[in-house]
Amino acid sequence: MKLRLTALVGLLVVLCLPAPSSAAERPARIVVDPGHGGAVGGAQSPTGLLEKDVSLQVARRLRTLLEKELGAQVLMTRDEDVALPLPERVEFANKQRPDLFLSIHCNAMPTKRTRARVQGIETYFLSANASNATARAAADRENAEAPVARGAQGDSTLAFILQDLARTEAHQDSSRLAYAIHQKLIASTGGSDRGVLQAPFYVLNGVEAPAVLIEVGYISHPEEGGRLGRADYQERLATAITEGVRGFLAEIRKRDAPKGPRVAAPATP
Ligand SMILES: [Zn+2]
Repeated sequence: MKLRLTALVGLLVVLCLPAPSSAAERPARIVVDPGHGGAVGGAQSPTGLLEKDVSLQVARRLRTLLEKELGAQVLMTRDEDVALPLPERVEFANKQRPDLFLSIHCNAMPTKRTRARVQGIETYFLSANASNATARAAADRENAEAPVARGAQGDSTLAFILQDLARTEAHQDSSRLAYAIHQKLIASTGGSDRGVLQAPFYVLNGVEAPAVLIEVGYISHPEEGGRLGRADYQERLATAITEGVRGFLAEIRKRDAPKGPRVAAPATP
């Protein structure tokens, strides 16, 4: 009798649970790409802090949180202080067939006056045309390490892919992902909101999954540059990005969930 009651309770519990969609059951696969590395230091703070180190530190914190909080499977393009060409990052990302791609960078201003003045957070997704002068400058700086030899061919390939962009679902999802992350970053850090922007970033072009590039702050600014080196601030950035990813995944899973009345899954024999 007791056994039968236990079985009945078990059956009731199973029937009361919402039927999970297959997407909800599968852990999200996320490629995290820390910018620069090795001899390519990226931007620099007034005290000599390098973008390549901040991007790796934030990326490692992000990996831990995505795994712990979202149960995600995280793949890093680099997990050491090594140089990694931009085409290899794209190739790695596509091989993993991820659900999304996050590239982590720090921004910088070129002149003494602007370095002292400009700070804040920008979140990017790919576009043939830069949103504004800021976006153009960021793409130029981040694309500086792109292979020169592939320039001509790269340009025509870029143009071909970009023509098709507006029609692809991944591109629309890149926009959704950028807004989801950016809102959380601004709310959590109180950082200056420099907007969700679009620009032709080499490392985003050709990535088949929804992809964003996050400039987590201006490392060239005396105060923000200092904050970016602090463990607690890096943790706050990583937490906000994780919450943005959580919101994005919930949104697309709801959208992609099968329509119609839910039926209980058949019992396994
Ligand atoms: Zn960078």
